[in-house]
Amino acid sequence: MSVFEHLGEEFEEVVFLHDPPTGLRAIVAVHSTVLGPGLGGTRCFPFASDDDALRDVLRLARAMTYKAAAAGLDLGGGKAVIIGDPRTVKTEPLLRAYGRFIESLGGRYVTAEDVGTTQADMDVIRRETRHAGGASESLGGSGDPSILTAYGVFLAMRAAAQEAWGDGSLDGKRVAVQGVGKVGGGLVSHLVGAGASVVVADVDAAAVDRVARSYDVETADPSAFHTIDCDVFAPCALGAAVNDRTVAEFRCSVVCGAANNQLERPEHAGALADRGILYAPDYVANAGGITNISEEFRPGGYDPDRARRSVERIEHTMARVFQTARDRAVTPAQAADDLAEERLQAGARIRLEEAAKQ
Ligand code: NAD
Repeated sequence: MSVFEHLGEEFEEVVFLHDPPTGLRAIVAVHSTVLGPGLGGTRCFPFASDDDALRDVLRLARAMTYKAAAAGLDLGGGKAVIIGDPRTVKTEPLLRAYGRFIESLGGRYVTAEDVGTTQADMDVIRRETRHAGGASESLGGSGDPSILTAYGVFLAMRAAAQEAWGDGSLDGKRVAVQGVGKVGGGLVSHLVGAGASVVVADVDAAAVDRVARSYDVETADPSAFHTIDCDVFAPCALGAAVNDRTVAEFRCSVVCGAANNQLERPEHAGALADRGILYAPDYVANAGGITNISEEFRPGGYDPDRARRSVERIEHTMARVFQTARDRAVTPAQAADDLAEERLQAGARIRLEEAAKQ
Protein backbone atom coordinates (compact mmCIF):
# COMPACT_ATOMS: atom_id res chain seq x y z
CA MET A 1 0.00 0.00 0.00
CA SER A 2 1.34 3.49 -0.80
CA VAL A 3 2.00 5.81 2.13
CA PHE A 4 -0.62 8.27 0.86
CA GLU A 5 -3.24 5.50 0.72
CA HIS A 6 -2.57 4.86 4.42
CA LEU A 7 -3.27 8.52 5.12
CA GLY A 8 -6.64 8.63 3.36
CA GLU A 9 -8.36 12.01 3.37
CA GLU A 10 -7.83 12.68 7.01
CA PHE A 11 -4.25 13.10 8.19
CA GLU A 12 -2.57 16.49 8.11
CA GLU A 13 1.03 15.43 8.50
CA VAL A 14 3.12 12.32 8.99
CA VAL A 15 6.82 12.73 9.68
CA PHE A 16 9.45 9.99 9.66
CA LEU A 17 12.32 10.78 12.02
CA HIS A 18 15.72 9.20 11.53
CA ASP A 19 18.85 9.99 13.50
CA PRO A 20 21.61 7.52 12.51
CA PRO A 21 24.08 8.51 15.29
CA THR A 22 21.60 7.51 18.04
CA GLY A 23 19.65 4.89 16.04
CA LEU A 24 16.39 6.83 16.47
CA ARG A 25 13.65 5.67 14.15
CA ALA A 26 10.30 7.26 14.89
CA ILE A 27 7.07 8.32 13.21
CA VAL A 28 4.94 11.29 14.25
CA ALA A 29 1.37 11.46 12.95
CA VAL A 30 -0.69 14.61 13.26
CA HIS A 31 -4.28 13.71 12.52
CA SER A 32 -5.92 17.07 13.12
CA THR A 33 -4.99 20.50 14.42
CA VAL A 34 -8.44 21.94 13.76
CA LEU A 35 -9.10 22.47 17.48
CA GLY A 36 -5.48 23.00 18.56
CA PRO A 37 -2.05 21.32 18.58
CA GLY A 38 -2.15 17.57 17.99
CA LEU A 39 -1.48 16.07 21.42
CA GLY A 40 -0.79 12.39 22.01
CA GLY A 41 1.75 10.19 23.73
CA THR A 42 4.91 8.64 22.36
CA ARG A 43 4.70 4.85 22.25
CA CYS A 44 7.99 2.95 22.28
CA PHE A 45 7.56 -0.57 20.98
CA PRO A 46 9.55 -3.13 18.94
CA PHE A 47 7.11 -3.20 16.00
CA ALA A 48 7.50 -6.24 13.75
CA SER A 49 7.63 -3.98 10.68
CA ASP A 50 7.65 -0.29 9.76
CA ASP A 51 4.22 -0.87 8.22
CA ASP A 52 2.86 -2.05 11.59
CA ALA A 53 4.36 1.01 13.26
CA LEU A 54 2.75 3.32 10.69
CA ARG A 55 -0.65 1.62 10.98
CA ASP A 56 -0.55 1.89 14.79
CA VAL A 57 0.50 5.52 14.91
CA LEU A 58 -2.22 6.54 12.44
CA ARG A 59 -4.94 4.66 14.32
CA LEU A 60 -3.85 6.11 17.66
CA ALA A 61 -3.51 9.69 16.35
CA ARG A 62 -7.04 9.61 14.96
CA ALA A 63 -8.39 8.34 18.29
CA MET A 64 -6.69 11.26 20.08
CA THR A 65 -8.54 13.76 17.88
CA TYR A 66 -11.85 12.26 18.97
CA LYS A 67 -10.84 12.09 22.63
CA ALA A 68 -9.76 15.74 22.78
CA ALA A 69 -12.77 16.95 20.78
CA ALA A 70 -15.27 15.05 22.95
CA ALA A 71 -13.57 16.34 26.11
CA GLY A 72 -14.05 19.93 24.93
CA LEU A 73 -10.30 20.62 24.89
CA ASP A 74 -8.54 23.10 22.62
CA LEU A 75 -6.38 20.31 21.30
CA GLY A 76 -6.16 18.22 18.18
CA GLY A 77 -4.98 14.66 17.80
CA GLY A 78 -1.51 13.29 17.23
CA LYS A 79 0.63 10.39 18.25
CA ALA A 80 4.20 9.19 17.86
CA VAL A 81 5.99 5.87 17.89
CA ILE A 82 9.65 5.20 18.55
CA ILE A 83 10.51 1.88 16.94
CA GLY A 84 12.51 -0.36 19.29
CA ASP A 85 12.57 -2.16 22.60
CA PRO A 86 11.94 0.40 25.37
CA ARG A 87 14.35 -1.47 27.67
CA THR A 88 17.30 -0.82 25.37
CA VAL A 89 16.70 1.98 22.85
CA LYS A 90 15.80 4.85 25.16
CA THR A 91 19.26 6.31 25.74
CA GLU A 92 19.57 9.96 26.71
CA PRO A 93 21.11 10.96 23.32
CA LEU A 94 18.25 9.21 21.48
CA LEU A 95 15.54 10.86 23.59
CA ARG A 96 17.21 14.25 23.21
CA ALA A 97 17.46 13.82 19.42
CA TYR A 98 13.77 12.91 19.49
CA GLY A 99 13.04 16.05 21.55
CA ARG A 100 14.84 18.22 18.97
CA PHE A 101 12.73 16.71 16.19
CA ILE A 102 9.54 17.45 18.15
CA GLU A 103 10.73 21.04 18.65
CA SER A 104 11.30 21.37 14.89
CA LEU A 105 7.60 20.63 14.31
CA GLY A 106 6.87 24.03 15.84
CA GLY A 107 4.15 22.90 18.26
CA ARG A 108 1.90 21.19 15.71
CA TYR A 109 2.56 17.99 17.69
CA VAL A 110 2.78 17.88 21.49
CA THR A 111 4.01 14.69 23.05
CA ALA A 112 3.39 12.93 26.39
CA GLU A 113 4.03 9.53 27.91
CA ASP A 114 2.44 6.34 26.60
CA VAL A 115 3.12 2.60 26.58
CA GLY A 116 6.90 2.15 26.73
CA THR A 117 7.71 5.73 27.78
CA THR A 118 7.77 7.21 31.27
CA GLN A 119 7.65 10.50 33.09
CA ALA A 120 11.45 10.33 33.39
CA ASP A 121 11.66 10.10 29.57
CA MET A 122 9.43 13.18 29.27
CA ASP A 123 11.79 15.01 31.63
CA VAL A 124 14.69 14.27 29.23
CA ILE A 125 12.68 15.12 26.08
CA ARG A 126 11.58 18.39 27.68
CA ARG A 127 15.18 19.53 27.88
CA GLU A 128 15.03 19.90 24.09
CA THR A 129 11.45 20.98 23.47
CA ARG A 130 8.61 22.94 25.05
CA HIS A 131 6.16 20.63 23.33
CA ALA A 132 6.20 17.76 25.82
CA GLY A 133 3.56 17.32 28.52
CA GLY A 134 3.41 15.09 31.58
CA ALA A 135 6.91 15.89 32.85
CA SER A 136 7.61 15.94 36.60
CA GLU A 137 5.87 18.59 38.68
CA SER A 138 9.27 19.91 39.80
CA LEU A 139 9.92 20.81 36.13
CA GLY A 140 6.57 22.58 35.75
CA GLY A 141 4.87 19.50 34.31
CA SER A 142 1.54 18.04 35.40
CA GLY A 143 3.03 14.81 36.78
CA ASP A 144 1.43 11.38 36.65
CA PRO A 145 -1.77 11.61 34.52
CA SER A 146 -3.25 8.37 35.86
CA ILE A 147 -4.43 10.00 39.11
CA LEU A 148 -6.91 12.24 37.32
CA THR A 149 -7.66 9.56 34.72
CA ALA A 150 -8.92 7.38 37.60
CA TYR A 151 -10.97 10.26 39.01
CA GLY A 152 -12.51 10.91 35.58
CA VAL A 153 -13.47 7.24 35.17
CA PHE A 154 -15.12 7.34 38.59
CA LEU A 155 -17.15 10.41 37.56
CA ALA A 156 -18.06 8.79 34.24
CA MET A 157 -19.31 5.80 36.22
CA ARG A 158 -21.50 8.10 38.32
CA ALA A 159 -23.05 9.43 35.08
CA ALA A 160 -23.60 5.85 33.91
CA ALA A 161 -25.25 4.96 37.24
CA GLN A 162 -27.55 7.96 36.85
CA GLU A 163 -28.48 6.77 33.36
CA ALA A 164 -28.92 3.12 34.31
CA TRP A 165 -30.62 3.47 37.70
CA GLY A 166 -31.77 7.09 37.90
CA ASP A 167 -29.31 7.78 40.74
CA GLY A 168 -25.62 8.68 40.35
CA SER A 169 -24.66 7.19 43.70
CA LEU A 170 -22.45 4.10 43.58
CA ASP A 171 -23.16 3.32 47.24
CA GLY A 172 -23.91 -0.40 47.51
CA LYS A 173 -23.23 -1.09 43.82
CA ARG A 174 -21.01 -4.04 43.01
CA VAL A 175 -18.19 -2.96 40.72
CA ALA A 176 -15.71 -5.39 39.10
CA VAL A 177 -12.38 -3.73 38.28
CA GLN A 178 -10.33 -5.65 35.70
CA GLY A 179 -6.68 -4.58 36.04
CA VAL A 180 -5.53 -2.71 39.14
CA GLY A 181 -2.48 -0.90 37.80
CA LYS A 182 -2.06 2.86 37.95
CA VAL A 183 -5.60 3.76 36.88
CA GLY A 184 -7.50 0.70 38.14
CA GLY A 185 -5.87 1.04 41.56
CA GLY A 186 -6.86 4.71 41.78
CA LEU A 187 -10.37 3.90 40.67
CA VAL A 188 -10.71 1.34 43.49
CA SER A 189 -9.89 4.05 46.01
CA HIS A 190 -12.68 6.33 44.71
CA LEU A 191 -15.17 3.45 44.55
CA VAL A 192 -14.47 2.26 48.08
CA GLY A 193 -14.76 5.87 49.26
CA ALA A 194 -18.18 6.09 47.59
CA GLY A 195 -19.44 2.97 49.37
CA ALA A 196 -19.29 0.58 46.39
CA SER A 197 -18.59 -3.09 46.95
CA VAL A 198 -15.51 -3.77 44.84
CA VAL A 199 -14.14 -6.98 43.36
CA VAL A 200 -10.77 -6.88 41.59
CA ALA A 201 -8.66 -9.12 39.35
CA ASP A 202 -5.26 -8.71 37.75
CA VAL A 203 -2.85 -11.08 36.02
CA ASP A 204 -0.13 -9.56 38.21
CA ALA A 205 -0.55 -10.99 41.73
CA ALA A 206 1.58 -8.17 43.20
CA ALA A 207 -0.88 -5.56 41.86
CA VAL A 208 -3.79 -7.40 43.49
CA ASP A 209 -1.85 -7.64 46.78
CA ARG A 210 -1.16 -3.90 46.79
CA VAL A 211 -4.84 -3.07 46.42
CA ALA A 212 -6.07 -5.79 48.79
CA ARG A 213 -3.68 -4.58 51.50
CA SER A 214 -4.96 -1.00 51.22
CA TYR A 215 -8.70 -1.47 50.77
CA ASP A 216 -11.48 -3.79 51.81
CA VAL A 217 -12.02 -5.48 48.42
CA GLU A 218 -12.84 -8.95 47.20
CA THR A 219 -10.33 -10.58 44.85
CA ALA A 220 -11.10 -12.95 41.98
CA ASP A 221 -9.41 -15.12 39.36
CA PRO A 222 -8.57 -12.98 36.29
CA SER A 223 -9.17 -15.78 33.76
CA ALA A 224 -12.98 -15.56 33.45
CA PHE A 225 -13.42 -12.31 35.33
CA HIS A 226 -15.80 -10.85 32.76
CA THR A 227 -18.42 -13.45 33.77
CA ILE A 228 -18.58 -12.18 37.36
CA ASP A 229 -21.99 -11.08 38.58
CA CYS A 230 -21.82 -7.30 39.16
CA ASP A 231 -23.57 -4.00 38.49
CA VAL A 232 -20.62 -2.37 36.70
CA PHE A 233 -17.77 -4.05 34.86
CA ALA A 234 -14.74 -1.71 34.63
CA PRO A 235 -12.09 -2.71 32.04
CA CYS A 236 -8.86 -1.09 33.26
CA ALA A 237 -6.30 -3.44 31.68
CA LEU A 238 -5.81 -3.84 27.94
CA GLY A 239 -7.99 -3.12 24.90
CA ALA A 240 -10.66 -5.40 23.38
CA ALA A 241 -12.24 -6.31 26.74
CA VAL A 242 -15.56 -6.24 24.87
CA ASN A 243 -15.36 -8.93 22.20
CA ASP A 244 -17.49 -11.72 20.66
CA ARG A 245 -16.95 -13.97 23.67
CA THR A 246 -17.26 -11.49 26.55
CA VAL A 247 -20.23 -9.62 25.16
CA ALA A 248 -22.29 -12.81 25.32
CA GLU A 249 -21.08 -13.72 28.80
CA PHE A 250 -21.13 -10.42 30.74
CA ARG A 251 -23.34 -10.40 33.82
CA CYS A 252 -23.38 -6.66 34.43
CA SER A 253 -25.67 -3.72 33.64
CA VAL A 254 -22.95 -1.20 32.81
CA VAL A 255 -19.48 -1.32 31.20
CA CYS A 256 -17.40 1.70 32.20
CA GLY A 257 -13.64 1.69 32.60
CA ALA A 258 -10.30 3.25 31.73
CA ALA A 259 -8.88 0.95 29.06
CA ASN A 260 -8.42 2.37 25.56
CA ASN A 261 -10.16 0.65 22.64
CA GLN A 262 -12.45 -1.45 24.81
CA LEU A 263 -14.60 -2.53 21.86
CA GLU A 264 -12.74 -5.08 19.77
CA ARG A 265 -14.85 -4.03 16.79
CA PRO A 266 -17.29 -1.09 16.46
CA GLU A 267 -20.27 -3.45 16.15
CA HIS A 268 -19.72 -4.61 19.75
CA ALA A 269 -21.37 -1.33 20.83
CA GLY A 270 -24.59 -2.59 19.24
CA ALA A 271 -24.12 -6.06 20.73
CA LEU A 272 -23.90 -4.55 24.24
CA ALA A 273 -27.01 -2.45 23.62
CA ASP A 274 -28.88 -5.55 22.37
CA ARG A 275 -28.11 -7.21 25.70
CA GLY A 276 -29.38 -4.16 27.59
CA ILE A 277 -25.89 -3.30 28.85
CA LEU A 278 -25.08 0.42 29.03
CA TYR A 279 -21.66 1.23 27.56
CA ALA A 280 -19.83 4.36 28.70
CA PRO A 281 -17.58 5.17 25.69
CA ASP A 282 -13.94 4.62 26.69
CA TYR A 283 -12.44 7.78 25.28
CA VAL A 284 -14.98 9.95 27.08
CA ALA A 285 -14.48 8.10 30.39
CA ASN A 286 -10.68 8.09 30.29
CA ALA A 287 -10.08 11.70 29.18
CA GLY A 288 -8.91 12.79 32.65
CA GLY A 289 -5.24 12.25 31.82
CA ILE A 290 -5.23 14.29 28.61
CA THR A 291 -7.36 16.97 30.28
CA ASN A 292 -4.76 17.18 33.06
CA ILE A 293 -1.89 17.48 30.55
CA SER A 294 -3.75 20.11 28.52
CA GLU A 295 -3.74 22.32 31.63
CA GLU A 296 0.05 22.69 31.32
CA PHE A 297 -0.42 24.67 28.13
CA ARG A 298 -2.97 27.12 29.55
CA PRO A 299 -1.87 30.71 30.31
CA GLY A 300 -0.18 30.78 33.71
CA GLY A 301 0.91 27.16 33.47
CA TYR A 302 -0.30 24.11 35.35
CA ASP A 303 -2.63 24.55 38.31
CA PRO A 304 -3.70 21.30 40.03
CA ASP A 305 -7.00 22.70 41.37
CA ARG A 306 -8.02 24.00 37.96
CA ALA A 307 -7.01 20.66 36.41
CA ARG A 308 -9.24 18.77 38.85
CA ARG A 309 -12.17 21.08 38.07
CA SER A 310 -11.63 20.55 34.33
CA VAL A 311 -11.68 16.77 34.81
CA GLU A 312 -14.98 17.12 36.67
CA ARG A 313 -16.59 18.07 33.35
CA ILE A 314 -16.39 14.38 32.39
CA GLU A 315 -19.51 13.56 34.42
CA HIS A 316 -21.52 16.13 32.47
CA THR A 317 -19.99 15.13 29.11
CA MET A 318 -20.87 11.47 29.70
CA ALA A 319 -24.44 12.43 30.69
CA ARG A 320 -24.68 14.40 27.44
CA VAL A 321 -23.47 11.39 25.46
CA PHE A 322 -26.21 9.21 27.00
CA GLN A 323 -28.85 11.89 26.39
CA THR A 324 -27.77 12.25 22.74
CA ALA A 325 -27.84 8.47 22.30
CA ARG A 326 -31.43 8.38 23.59
CA ASP A 327 -32.54 11.38 21.49
CA ARG A 328 -31.04 10.00 18.27
CA ALA A 329 -31.73 6.32 19.01
CA VAL A 330 -28.07 5.41 18.52
CA THR A 331 -25.54 3.67 20.78
CA PRO A 332 -23.56 5.79 23.25
CA ALA A 333 -20.41 4.96 21.21
CA GLN A 334 -22.04 6.46 18.10
CA ALA A 335 -23.31 9.45 20.09
CA ALA A 336 -19.78 10.17 21.39
CA ASP A 337 -18.36 10.02 17.83
CA ASP A 338 -21.17 12.30 16.61
CA LEU A 339 -20.51 14.90 19.32
CA ALA A 340 -16.77 14.85 18.62
CA GLU A 341 -17.32 15.19 14.85
CA GLU A 342 -19.79 18.03 15.32
CA ARG A 343 -17.23 19.95 17.39
CA LEU A 344 -14.56 19.30 14.74
CA GLN A 345 -16.86 20.51 11.96
CA ALA A 346 -17.68 23.67 13.94
CA GLY A 347 -13.93 24.24 14.48
CA ALA A 348 -13.23 23.78 10.77
CA ARG A 349 -16.00 26.28 9.88
CA ILE A 350 -14.54 28.90 12.26
CA ARG A 351 -11.11 28.42 10.67
CA LEU A 352 -12.53 28.87 7.18
CA GLU A 353 -14.37 32.03 8.24
CA GLU A 354 -11.20 33.44 9.83
CA ALA A 355 -9.18 32.64 6.70
CA ALA A 356 -11.83 34.36 4.52
CA LYS A 357 -11.55 37.53 6.63
CA GLN A 358 -7.78 37.81 6.12
P1 NAD B 1 -0.99 -0.22 34.02
O1 NAD B 1 -0.03 -0.97 33.17
O2 NAD B 1 -0.49 0.54 35.21
O3 NAD B 1 -2.11 -1.22 34.56
C1 NAD B 1 -2.72 -2.20 33.79
C2 NAD B 1 -2.94 -3.41 34.69
O4 NAD B 1 -3.71 -4.38 33.98
C3 NAD B 1 -1.63 -4.09 35.11
O5 NAD B 1 -1.60 -4.25 36.52
C4 NAD B 1 -1.69 -5.45 34.39
O6 NAD B 1 -1.08 -6.49 35.12
C5 NAD B 1 -3.20 -5.66 34.29
N1 NAD B 1 -3.62 -6.62 33.28
C6 NAD B 1 -3.11 -6.84 32.04
N2 NAD B 1 -3.81 -7.81 31.41
C7 NAD B 1 -4.81 -8.18 32.26
C8 NAD B 1 -5.86 -9.12 32.18
N3 NAD B 1 -6.04 -9.87 31.10
N4 NAD B 1 -6.69 -9.25 33.25
C9 NAD B 1 -6.52 -8.49 34.36
N5 NAD B 1 -5.52 -7.58 34.49
C10 NAD B 1 -4.67 -7.43 33.45
O7 NAD B 1 -1.77 0.74 33.02
P2 NAD B 1 -2.69 1.99 33.39
O8 NAD B 1 -1.91 3.23 33.19
O9 NAD B 1 -3.39 1.74 34.68
O10 NAD B 1 -3.74 1.94 32.19
C11 NAD B 1 -4.80 1.02 32.17
C12 NAD B 1 -5.61 1.21 30.90
O11 NAD B 1 -6.13 2.54 30.85
C13 NAD B 1 -4.80 1.03 29.60
O12 NAD B 1 -5.65 0.48 28.62
C14 NAD B 1 -4.46 2.46 29.21
O13 NAD B 1 -4.26 2.59 27.82
C15 NAD B 1 -5.71 3.18 29.64
N6 NAD B 1 -5.49 4.61 29.91
C16 NAD B 1 -4.58 5.01 30.85
C17 NAD B 1 -4.40 6.36 31.10
C18 NAD B 1 -3.44 6.85 32.15
O14 NAD B 1 -3.51 8.03 32.53
N7 NAD B 1 -2.56 5.99 32.67
C19 NAD B 1 -5.15 7.32 30.39
C20 NAD B 1 -6.08 6.87 29.44
C21 NAD B 1 -6.25 5.52 29.22
